[in-house]
Amino acid sequence: MAIESINPYTGRVLRRFRAFSWAKTERILAQASRAATSWPRTTFAERSSLMHRAAALLRERQDELARLMALEMGKPVADGRAEIEKCALTCDYYADHAAEFLRDEEVSTVARRSFIAYEPLGVVLAIMPWNFPFWQVIRFAAPALMAGNVALLKHASNVPQCALALESIFHDAGFPPATFRTLLIGSDLVEKLLQDDRVMAATLTGSELAGSKVAATAGANIKKTVLELGGSDPFVVLADADLELAAKTAAQARMVNAGQSCIAAKRFIVHKSIVKPFISQLKTHLLALRTGDPLDAATQYGPLARPDLADELTKQVEDSVKAGAKIELHGGQSKPGTALFRPMIISGVKPNQPAYHEELFGPVAIVLEARDDDEAVRLANDSRFGLGAAIWTRDLARGEALARRIAAGAVFVNSMVKSSPEMPFGGIKKSGYGRELSYLGIREFVNQKSVWIG
Ligand code: NAP
Repeated sequence: MAIESINPYTGRVLRRFRAFSWAKTERILAQASRAATSWPRTTFAERSSLMHRAAALLRERQDELARLMALEMGKPVADGRAEIEKCALTCDYYADHAAEFLRDEEVSTVARRSFIAYEPLGVVLAIMPWNFPFWQVIRFAAPALMAGNVALLKHASNVPQCALALESIFHDAGFPPATFRTLLIGSDLVEKLLQDDRVMAATLTGSELAGSKVAATAGANIKKTVLELGGSDPFVVLADADLELAAKTAAQARMVNAGQSCIAAKRFIVHKSIVKPFISQLKTHLLALRTGDPLDAATQYGPLARPDLADELTKQVEDSVKAGAKIELHGGQSKPGTALFRPMIISGVKPNQPAYHEELFGPVAIVLEARDDDEAVRLANDSRFGLGAAIWTRDLARGEALARRIAAGAVFVNSMVKSSPEMPFGGIKKSGYGRELSYLGIREFVNQKSVWIG
């Protein structure tokens, strides 16, 4: 099986890789498993200095890595540079805080002394998506390596060069090579890896289907998983919101990575008194965005990462329109089989349409009307997903009260949803379970050991 790097803007094949055989994968796993006994013996200070070095290398290679993303998955270079900076920041964050997050915790009991120790689990398999090819990996790998775990990366098949660049960063920073390895494998070998006793746990960021398959195999083998899956985030605009700012942010929040972000705002739930001006302003902002070659610094959104993703999105929109949705802004693909997808707005979306229940992983904004706060909350929560949500209101107490009623892993008031190293990130319902980032993220893949000294 070939793993291919294809430029979605030109359709040109950039590189082809032969997928690793099981024999090669197994050799790497054996090395990783050996490293899992030696790596935890290093001190936090030693790991921290390597992690800071990885951050420095990310910054040194920022342009080159942004270019690679532009070529492999169509992200405009300006956004790619920002992604790499965020990766570097997160490496620095865990380099600075891991020791404190995993310090022994004294607990008062009847024992002479009792405490909780946080110890690494060993080899963790990371199955990652293409949409933020560096960020998704770093937000797992930085805490995992700092905790003393060893990482095996199975990246999405369309970003093999990004996957190899990540491996080079850790190796060039001085991490023992077996502590972070990229496996150029298809998803067929994932099951075998999960069945192997040397793999202790797994994390997957991706679709619901991939998540459920990986979690099922991991579960059958009694292995912990963290799942970061899809989302259909609501963006609620109440009648008292700063409409101009809300509409401008709505366009940004929908267009993150050409709409291909799990936490992109996808369902705009707007008070009926302001729905018309909201749509009109959202349209203006979306139309003002420049598309073009992702390598061009002026490009604000590029093509979707693959033509089949654009075809799928077109079908979801067409099926919704056939079932009664109304197109407010015409855009989409110019012809089937091409990756460029211009922004669209659809309204009149009802439960009988795919757009109501499914994730639209591209630049299509759904506008839903709400009569009052209760209806806004009901619509926001009427989703299989529960990842992020945004609420716009000038009344901060009302915003906070509504934030508590929204079923999601994160709610932002008067801001778009974003991740940052200090705050936990993850979902509920079909958006997955477990948390990344913050002190909670680094405690996912550790043995929380009770030590009792009588
Ligand atoms: P995907 O098709 O599920 O792929 C994600 C990863 O899973 C890839 O490495 C893929 O490998 C692998 N995979 C697919 N099927 C598998 C299987 N049966 N067994 C083992 N591995 C399997 O998802 P995607 O299209 O790359 O990403 C888009 C989805 O990710 C969206 O739903 C998005 O919302 C979600 N996402 C969630 C988060 C979050 O933090 N919650 C962040 C980003 C994206 P191959 O490429 O080889 O198939």
